[in-house]
Amino acid sequence: MQINCERLKANLIELSKIGYNEEDRGIYRPGYSDADMESRRWLQEKAKAAGYETYMDGAGNVFFGRGELNKPAVLMGSHIDSVPAGGIFDGSLGVLAALEVMQTLDENQVVTETPVWGVATAEEEGRFGGMLGAQAISGKLNPDWIMSAHDADGVYLKDAMAAQGLNAMDALDAAWRPEQLKAYLELHIEQGPVLFQENLQIGVVEGISGVFKWIVHLKGKADHAGTAPMDMRSDAFMGLADFAHEIERIIAENGTDKTRITVGKVELKPGYPHTVAGEAIFTIVGRDMDEEVMKEVANACRKALSAIARKHRLMFEYEQSSWLAPKPCSAKLTDLIEEQVKALDYSYLRMPSGAGHDTQFLSEITDAGLIFIPSVNGVSHAPDEWSHWHDIEAGTNVLLHSVLANLAEN
Ligand SMILES: [Zn+2]
Repeated sequence: MQINCERLKANLIELSKIGYNEEDRGIYRPGYSDADMESRRWLQEKAKAAGYETYMDGAGNVFFGRGELNKPAVLMGSHIDSVPAGGIFDGSLGVLAALEVMQTLDENQVVTETPVWGVATAEEEGRFGGMLGAQAISGKLNPDWIMSAHDADGVYLKDAMAAQGLNAMDALDAAWRPEQLKAYLELHIEQGPVLFQENLQIGVVEGISGVFKWIVHLKGKADHAGTAPMDMRSDAFMGLADFAHEIERIIAENGTDKTRITVGKVELKPGYPHTVAGEAIFTIVGRDMDEEVMKEVANACRKALSAIARKHRLMFEYEQSSWLAPKPCSAKLTDLIEEQVKALDYSYLRMPSGAGHDTQFLSEITDAGLIFIPSVNGVSHAPDEWSHWHDIEAGTNVLLHSVLANLAEN
């Protein structure tokens, strides 16, 4: 059984016209914008025309499928909102692949007791700081957050939703109970370079990496850059530079091949060319698939920074601004996906996801599985995000056969 890639391609291209900006060729469908809502209505019309029932829940999630939801359902999907100047596949692929799989099942007269439904989640990209649609489905929302959440321009979530005829508090009623779901499957572009660089067709995702964020302060002394001898300085920048050199060793000794450590934001004070940096403030973001490894890596960072601070006569402080545990996909479903990939004879890699996805919340209430296809040059969240149609076809066939295999088991 094979999906119809021409039909899927036509749908993806039709959807890419909603929120398209001619100037930068990017997609603009931020959560609850007019274009975002237009894409949701477009999807509902598409699903209806294909003979499916469809509804929008209180969070703005659009569901489409057939059959009473009185038995545990297989749900497929992803998000339909985008970052500003996003690409045409991020999220949209998983949503339209779900519709394509359902149509393929119908055309092949696959009859199943298990309801098969698709979903286009709302506000996955975090305009308001969460992953609202998926959080709503998995019952991970609280009223205080809903009322206080706002975007970078100060627009409140509740106002943005009200402008689209949605009552933000209704998102609390969008939760599914675990017994309503048999499995959740998501097809997504990798948004990174690994599959493309290694010339592989499919990523079988083992889970979403855990991530911690620190804000580090190294405090020394701001001195005159001319009069302070090199050996009498407490140069905070030198401390930061030393730490940067320790990262490779920390990963080799305490991490895994899935560990990532990034210093992404740096501020030097007072920040004058002729003054020794008296203070360095920087972020450390660490990732791994194993929470114990995350703890060891964090510990090694702390030890390295303490030693560096002593060496350069600095004061070292840090604040942990977040610690998110890894979210493993269902091992059973991951194995099942891998079996389908092998049977279809596609090249593949078992891998973690460094980016967040709807799957991480759905995995809290059901068996969740995530399938990646290559992103050309690893580009995503940008107008030149691209994936080859033959990879899209392969990924959607893996989704189809994973659903079939899941339906076949009790
Ligand atoms: Zn996405």
